[in-house]
Amino acid sequence: MDNQIIIIGGGASALMLASLLPKQTVTIIESNAKLGAKILVSGGGKCNITNTEMGTEYYLGDADFVAPSLKAFSEKSLLKWLERQGLNPELRKETQYFCRDSAKELLDIFIKEAKKQKIVLNEEVLSVSKRDDIFYVKTSKKTYTSSAMVVASGGLSFPKLGASSIGYEIAEYFGHNIVKTAPALVGFTVQKEQFFFKALSGVSTDVSIKVAEQECKGALLFAHKGMSGPAVLDASLYWEKGRIEIDFLPDFSWKGVQGSKKQISSLLPMPKRVTKAFLIELELEDKPYNTLTKSELEKLHTLSHYSFAPAGTFGYSKAEVTKGGVDTSEVDNITMMSKEEKGLYLLGEVLDVTGRLGGYNFQWAFASAYSCAKHIKGKNHGK
Ligand SMILES: Cc1cc2nc3c(=O)[nH]c(=O)nc-3n(C[C@H](O)[C@H](O)[C@H](O)COP(=O)(O)OP(=O)(O)OC[C@H]3O[C@@H](n4cnc5c(N)ncnc54)[C@H](O)[C@@H]3O)c2cc1C
Repeated sequence: MDNQIIIIGGGASALMLASLLPKQTVTIIESNAKLGAKILVSGGGKCNITNTEMGTEYYLGDADFVAPSLKAFSEKSLLKWLERQGLNPELRKETQYFCRDSAKELLDIFIKEAKKQKIVLNEEVLSVSKRDDIFYVKTSKKTYTSSAMVVASGGLSFPKLGASSIGYEIAEYFGHNIVKTAPALVGFTVQKEQFFFKALSGVSTDVSIKVAEQECKGALLFAHKGMSGPAVLDASLYWEKGRIEIDFLPDFSWKGVQGSKKQISSLLPMPKRVTKAFLIELELEDKPYNTLTKSELEKLHTLSHYSFAPAGTFGYSKAEVTKGGVDTSEVDNITMMSKEEKGLYLLGEVLDVTGRLGGYNFQWAFASAYSCAKHIKGKNHGK
């Protein structure tokens, strides 16, 4: 046997698991030439590690599945663990923890910790099978054997950073169901009626987006392909085709400006370029607010509930995460072990658990790894 436990993938959840387990207990197999490629590019290069506002409500997925891991390894436990490793993340945007200078600070900690394990780089896992309680892991170079196997291969987002469908294929091979996957935390493309957004590319404005009974607040960034920005990325988590409703004036009261003599473009608290583009679109003149007729007012007020159906998303190449994944009703919520196959564990993004923007996806990757490590240590798989 090569090692007692093989971890497929060398990303966030794999590195946390390898760090938490005793030395020489696991073999990490990673297709990239380096570990943790997504950590390095995350959070604009500073990695948004976690968030002070934590709870199952920030996740798309079964709350009963997510809760035990978030409780066992909360954001506070994660921060304490990082502090013990010498990392003291910085609180930014009120609730989000980032590395102070670069995501490399976090990755360096993991690489140092992971050195106590066996690391195999530049080998792509192609398939897995099991005979007589032994897992056979076939890679692009050879076949490895183990008594336990952890699928930590992430989702389909950012194929250029190593993403592949192997996790879903392995899960299906062992009898798991895959909840339909889709790109998430991603921008929306627009239909003809909203093509005027493209001309506003680069302009950002605060909005509130209603989608599938959720409300996503924050900045909307107009883009060449449609729209992006934090509020849009969060909205993409809940969007399943169909209409969304955007309030372009989230903290504004029409009542408060009744009778105002100001020009519309001076009155509305949004970038003038955006106001002007909407005025053209709504076939309204930029004139004093108090001169608008009833029907003109009605048209203008649609800015508070602008409803339309996006054409689609920017796709996996631009999506920060993949929603959907391995059905969590078939995985134990305390240990992360498959209920279908003994000795098979699934962690992080490959599972049908997806967090909002703000550090929730790393928190999930780390918390699910913690649950798995606790169980494995108890079982002494590694000895
Ligand atoms: C641009 C970007 C920015 C992000 N920013 C943030 C952020 O700031 N905060 C946050 O919480 N989340 C962020 N995320 C999401 C976060 O990176 C992921 O949710 C998280 O990394 C998932 O961890 P994981 O261990 O499940 O998978 P990953 O970290 O994706 O690791 C999976 C690993 O498996 C490897 N692999 C895949 N297939 C194979 C195979 N066949 N053989 C061998 N190895 C394989 C991959 O190369 C990869 O290294 C961001 C994602 C992207 C793309």
